Amino acid sequence: MESMLLIRNGLIVDTEWSRREDILVKDGKILRTAKNIPLSLLPPDTEIVNADGLLVLPGFIDAHTHYGLVSRGTVTADSFKEGSRCAITGGITTVIDFADDDKVHSLKECAENRIKEMKDGGMVVDFSLHQGVYHVGKTTEKELKELASFGIRTIKIFTTYRNVGYLVENKEELVKLFKFAKKNKILITAHCEDNEIIEETERSWQGSFKPTSHPLLRPSKAEALAIRALGEIALQEKMPLYIVHVSSEAGLEEVYDLREEGAKIFIETTPTYLFADKSLLVGKSGALAIMTPPLRSKKDNAALSEALEDGDINVVATDHCAFTAEQKLKTGDDCRHTYPGVPGSQEMSSLLSTYAATGGLLNMQQIVNLISTSPAKLFGLYPKKGALHIGSDADIVLFDPEASWKVTKNTIQSASGYSIYEGRTLIGKVKMTYLRGRLVYGEDVYLGRNGSGEFVKQNVSAAYKYLDSSDEN
Ligand SMILES: [Zn+2]
Repeated sequence: MESMLLIRNGLIVDTEWSRREDILVKDGKILRTAKNIPLSLLPPDTEIVNADGLLVLPGFIDAHTHYGLVSRGTVTADSFKEGSRCAITGGITTVIDFADDDKVHSLKECAENRIKEMKDGGMVVDFSLHQGVYHVGKTTEKELKELASFGIRTIKIFTTYRNVGYLVENKEELVKLFKFAKKNKILITAHCEDNEIIEETERSWQGSFKPTSHPLLRPSKAEALAIRALGEIALQEKMPLYIVHVSSEAGLEEVYDLREEGAKIFIETTPTYLFADKSLLVGKSGALAIMTPPLRSKKDNAALSEALEDGDINVVATDHCAFTAEQKLKTGDDCRHTYPGVPGSQEMSSLLSTYAATGGLLNMQQIVNLISTSPAKLFGLYPKKGALHIGSDADIVLFDPEASWKVTKNTIQSASGYSIYEGRTLIGKVKMTYLRGRLVYGEDVYLGRNGSGEFVKQNVSAAYKYLDSSDEN
């Protein structure tokens, strides 16, 4: 048996309160939290950590990662070990990655294959999956039922990327998919950009295809339209819907309208759409900042920040999808062919705390909710993850809210070797990360063990609990 761990004198931050208490860990779980737990009651080999001056937070959850993604003939720079390392350095102890629908195997088999790949690939942090669904067929209903009982209760759909076969084009099929998902209490998550507008814009485009054109080729209107289209199905079917990486004011406005109409729309945004803008697309290294949806204007940043402060955004996650500069620039600077995506897991928590420390109306309780408790609830991992309650996994972050550090080549953990935040000074830093009671990162030293990450099954999403009981059967 492992010895116990006592973290003393830190300020424990939950979503509703903050308390100066000790926290006692046994066998990877939280055993007790209380003021001044007397050492005389504990076995002599108990490990004691002084967290004076530090915040004690539940391990963060990055609910949107693409580690080890094989796409368009290449693989991301950060595979499972490298991605895990970025995560842990940023206090993330659980990620929710994606399994593709290969249209050959059943959805459950696709998920199982991905889990095996992640385990064999040496995942260090715990993980769960969103299962992609790119086609609807005779067996889809049965496959979703199977998937849910296997422990995956979120699926991912696309409203774009017809060219690579991700789009469910037929509206009737799409509605069927919504009905099947509701029946099995599976949360639908969606990448919203209207395919037709994007294809049409590209067809009639007279300008260049330099990175600076990317936001114009994938306009925010496309995001808004796709949100409207799927939101209406959700409204009609009386079921929740989760929109990934909302990037624009236009997209947000559509979400607000749908919520007014009674739709249960949950939204995620990423630090990129909050804290970076399209000015990064200018110049030689512009291609390094290409992602989809594209970076937008400072006005969009402001609208999203306001939504964050007001509690209108449910989750912040990164969409971590890292390629080296060599990979990004391989296709020249034609933005249609650049691999989309940037690294992000490492900086997420510090970017949010920086925002809070520099005048943003966001407190640490809100941050804990956005990157830990809320994703845990929406993706059925709560209270095993997302909380420091008795019995929760001892995924613990000791966070120094005042430490300032600069993002430089030396601090970057991503194998991509770059960060779009390079050169920025951030306020707030992860000092220690514990995964199920074991120290995996401490004072800039990475202590992760390859292969220690476990697959975590999802229970029913809290999104389904918001529905009227009359709608459930
Ligand atoms: Zn993504």
